[in-house]
Amino acid sequence: TMISGMEVERAPEVNYEDIGGLDRQKILLREAVELPLLKPELFEKVGIEPPKGVLLVGPPGTGKTLLAKAVSHETNAAFIRVVGSELVQKYIGEGARLVRELFALAREKAPAIIFIDEIDAIGSSRSNEAYSAGDHEVNRTLMQLLSELDGFNTRGNVKIIAATNRMDILDQALLRPGRFDRIIEFPLPDEEGRRMILAIHTKKMHLNRTVSLEKIAKETENMNGSELMAICVEAGMNAVRAGRTKISGEDFVQAITAVKQGRNAKLTPIPD
Ligand code: ATP
Repeated sequence: TMISGMEVERAPEVNYEDIGGLDRQKILLREAVELPLLKPELFEKVGIEPPKGVLLVGPPGTGKTLLAKAVSHETNAAFIRVVGSELVQKYIGEGARLVRELFALAREKAPAIIFIDEIDAIGSSRSNEAYSAGDHEVNRTLMQLLSELDGFNTRGNVKIIAATNRMDILDQALLRPGRFDRIIEFPLPDEEGRRMILAIHTKKMHLNRTVSLEKIAKETENMNGSELMAICVEAGMNAVRAGRTKISGEDFVQAITAVKQGRNAKLTPIPD
């Protein structure tokens, strides 16, 4: 592909059951993206336009990409993922060209879902000081994105989902009606959400009776889905290291500590 870091996948293998919690977010995204793709005639009959772009807002690791993939799976659509910072290029006009190519590719692979992660990298509002050459290029890329958004048909079979964890710096131009006019928030999971995420990631693991997912959920406040998954893998690794086939409650206690440490160190924790 022409865009570095761009992924294209037909109907990725993610199901709604693989996503813990986020019940409301599932309903909203399915209504905004899945329904218009599967039943466009419903919108036509009622005489309304389906939403054009949906913006998923929330901290990292909270299931934004996962849910966008599940919608692609359900609609048998191509899932085309790009990262905002990768669209911003050093060379004049390159970013805009990549955006054009991205939308052309989506039309070719339709039905398709374009997923732009970290959209704030191209769509952030800057202070009105003099722009550097780099800012000009970012701006050009944004202009192209806005023009592609304005140009495409909401009734068509290309849908666009973007994600950000910096809603505060997002350029207001992106949020105008007919652009990203649906916003869905992805908060950190609460205790019940964490328990459900843990249940999903331990489904295939051999846990012994001492393991209580309720207890682990209580002890993992402020952790995201991605960290909870890491805890499950790390607990499994503890059993492997000890030559056991069953995972114990103590394996999880150690895994929680290791992941909490890794959070600060950003390194794979090495056991002593
Ligand atoms: P980012 O902003 O970093 O792109 P994101 O919100 O898109 O984050 P995902 O890529 O969806 O995060 O999640 C990362 C991983 O964390 C997933 O592949 C999954 O294993 C796990 N995960 C996150 N949220 C959930 C959830 N609600 N249920 C199950 N697993 C989850």
